[in-house]
Amino acid sequence: GTDAEKHRDLLAAENERLRQEMKACEGELRELQRQQQAPCRDCPHLQENTKLQEQLSQLQREAEETRAKLVELDLEVQQKTNRLAEVELRLKDSLAERAEEEERLSRRLRDSQETIASLKSQPQQIKYIIKTVEVESAKAKQALCETQSRNQYLQEQVGMQKQVLKEMEQQLQRSQKTEAQLRAQIMMYEAELERAHGQMLEEMQAMEEEKNHAIEEAFSRAQVEMKAVHENLAGVRTNLLTLQPALRTLTHDYNNLKRQVRDFPVLLQETLRSARAEISQAIEEVHSTNRELLRKYRRELQLRKKCHNELVRLKGNIRVFGRVRPITKEDGEGPEAANAVTFDADDDAVLYLLHKGKQVSFELDKVFPPQASQEEVFQEVQALVTSCIDGYNVCIFAYGQTGAGKTYTMEGTAANPGINQRALQLLFSEVRGKAADWDYAITVSAAEIYNEALRDLLGKEPQEKLEIKLCPDGSGQLYVPGLTEFRVQSVEDINKVFEFGHIKRVTECTNLNEHSSRSHALLIVTVRGLDRSTGLRTTGKLNLVDLAGSERVGRSGAEGSRLREAQHINKSLSALGDVIYALRSRQGHVPFRNSKLTYLLQDSLSGDSKTLMMVQVSPAEKNTSETLCSLKFAERVRSVELGPVSRKAELGSWPSQEHLEACALSSQGDLPGSAASPGRAHASPSPGQLSSRSASIRRKLQTSG
Ligand code: ADP
Ligand code: MG
Repeated sequence: GTDAEKHRDLLAAENERLRQEMKACEGELRELQRQQQAPCRDCPHLQENTKLQEQLSQLQREAEETRAKLVELDLEVQQKTNRLAEVELRLKDSLAERAEEEERLSRRLRDSQETIASLKSQPQQIKYIIKTVEVESAKAKQALCETQSRNQYLQEQVGMQKQVLKEMEQQLQRSQKTEAQLRAQIMMYEAELERAHGQMLEEMQAMEEEKNHAIEEAFSRAQVEMKAVHENLAGVRTNLLTLQPALRTLTHDYNNLKRQVRDFPVLLQETLRSARAEISQAIEEVHSTNRELLRKYRRELQLRKKCHNELVRLKGNIRVFGRVRPITKEDGEGPEAANAVTFDADDDAVLYLLHKGKQVSFELDKVFPPQASQEEVFQEVQALVTSCIDGYNVCIFAYGQTGAGKTYTMEGTAANPGINQRALQLLFSEVRGKAADWDYAITVSAAEIYNEALRDLLGKEPQEKLEIKLCPDGSGQLYVPGLTEFRVQSVEDINKVFEFGHIKRVTECTNLNEHSSRSHALLIVTVRGLDRSTGLRTTGKLNLVDLAGSERVGRSGAEGSRLREAQHINKSLSALGDVIYALRSRQGHVPFRNSKLTYLLQDSLSGDSKTLMMVQVSPAEKNTSETLCSLKFAERVRSVELGPVSRKAELGSWPSQEHLEACALSSQGDLPGSAASPGRAHASPSPGQLSSRSASIRRKLQTSG
C-alpha cells in the first residue's frame, strides 16, 4: 500500500511542477503577445503570432487531454489500491477467525485432557477402597457390593468419557484438517494478492512511462513553439529599433508644432490688437464725419422744417399726395406693362414719369411708391382723421384713372383695409380714450353721385334722388334731407353698414366695376362731441370720397349715355379742381354750386377745413398719358400761387378737364400746332422760377408780417 501511495505522491508532485512550468510559459507568452501588440499593428508578425498562438492553444489542449488521462489513471490506481486494502482486510479477518477457532479447539482439547486425567486418577481410589472392604469382611460385603455397583457405574462412566474423548479427538483432527485447509487457502490468497500487487505495480509503471512520455513530448513541442515565438520577438525587436528613429523625427516635428501652437495666440492677439486699433481709428473717423454730417443734416432739417411750415401756411389746408400702385397681372406683359415711374431716393415728394421717351418730374407733398403699405399710407392721413374729433371738417379724395388704385386706397381689401375702415377704427379708439370727459356719437352715411344725381346708398329707396338744402336755422349749413345716418360704435357695426351699402350697389348695377368707375362714392362720417363738464359741443365731418375715373373718354367713339356720363364726370372733376383752386388762391368767389359734389362738400372744403387729394397713378407704360394728366392735375391743385400779379399771369383760371386732356394730347404730339399748355410744360420748376418764387414768398411774408 505505502509503495503505491509513494508513487502517487511522486506523480502528483511531478504533475504540479509541470503545471507550474506551463503556467510560467503562458505568462511569458502573454507578455510577449502584449509587447508585440503594442508597437506594431497589422504587421506580418501578428499573423505569425496568431498562428503560433493557435499552435500553442493546440498544445495546451493536448496537454489538457494528457492531464485528463493522467487524472483518469490516478483514479484507477486509487480504485485498485482500495480494492487491495479491502482484500487485505478480509484476509486479516479470516486469519483472526481462524486463530480464534484454533484457540477454542485447543481449549476444548485441554479441558478434555484434564477430564481424562481426573478420570484416570479416580480408579486408584476405587482399588484402595476395594482392598479396605476385603479387610473389613462380611459386614462390609454389602458395602462392597454397593461399592462394586458404584464402581460399575463409574466404569460405565469412564467408558462414556472415553467415547467422548474419542469423539473429541476426532473433532480435533477435523479441526486440524480445516485449519490446514484454511492455511492453504490463506497461502493461495496471499499468492493472489502478491500477483495483483505485481500487476498493479506493472500497470503503474506503464502508466508512469506513458505519462512521462506525454509530458516530454508536450514539453519539447512547447519548447519548439517557444523558440519560434522568441525568434518572432527578436524580429519585432529589430522592427522596433528601425521604428525608433522615425518616432524621434515625429516627436521632433510634434514639439515644433506644439511650440508654434503655443506661440500662435500671442501672434493672434497682437494682430487682433493692431486690427482693433485700426478699426477703432476708422470708426472714430467715421464717427467724426458722421457727427459733422449729423450737425449739417440737423441744420438742414431745421431749415427745411421752417420752409415747410411756411409753405403749409401759404398752401392753406390743402395737401396733395400721390400713390403709385404696383404693376399687376391685369397690366399684361411685354412693353405695355413696363414700368414708367421712378422715384427719388432722397426725396419722398418727387416722382419721375417716363413719357414718350422724356422724363418728366413732379413734386407733390408726398409720394407713395408701389411698395408702400396701407398702414404707411394711413399713418400720413391719421392726423387729418383725428382732427375731426376736434370739430374740423375733413375731405379725403381719391383721384385717378380707373384701375389706378382709388378703391384700393379708400376701401382696400378685407385682409388689408384702406383708409375708410382704418379711419373709423382710429376714431373709435380716440373717442374711447376721451370717454372720461366727452360723450361722442359717430354716425356714417354713404352716398353716390352719378350723372349729377345724389343717391343714398344706405336708404330704403336707393333710386330716389336726394336734394341738398340749406339748414333752415340760418346757420348757412347744408344738409341732405332723407340721407340715412347709422350710428356706429365698433368695427363690426361699420362692416355691417358697408356690407349693406355694397349689397345695394351690387343689386342695383349690372356691372358694379363699370358703374363705380363712373360715379363718385362718398362715405360721410360725422363725429358729434359733448364736453360733459363745460357743455361744449363739437361737430366734425370726415368725407371719404372715391372719385369717378378721371380717364378721358374718346370723344368720337362715345355716344348716348356713355357720352353723358363722361360729360358729367368731366364737369364734376373740373368743378372740384376749380373749387380747390379758388380756395387756395383765396378768391372771393368759390364756385361750389358748379357740381353736386362740390356743393355737397361745401362746408367741408371751406373755412378751416382740411383737404387731402390722393392722386392715384398706374406705373404701366400703356397708362402714361393718363398718368401724366393725373399728375398735372395734382401739381396744379398743389401749386402755391402767390400775389395777384403772378397769379393772374400764370393761371387765369383753373384749367378744365378738357384743358387737361388737351395738354396731355399735345404732349403726346396728337395735336400738332396746338398752343403751349397753360400749365407748366415742365413740371419741376427751373432755377429762375425758384428764385422768383422765393422772392414772392419774401414779399408775402413782409406783407403778412
Ligand atoms: P380704381 O378704384 O382706381 O379703379 P382699384 O382700386 O380697383 O382701382 O385697383 C385696381 C387693381 O389694382 C385692383 O385689383 C387693386 O387690388 C389693385 N391695386 C391698386 N392699388 C394697389 C396697391 N397699392 N397695392 C396692391 N394692389 C393694388
Ligand atoms: Mg374703383
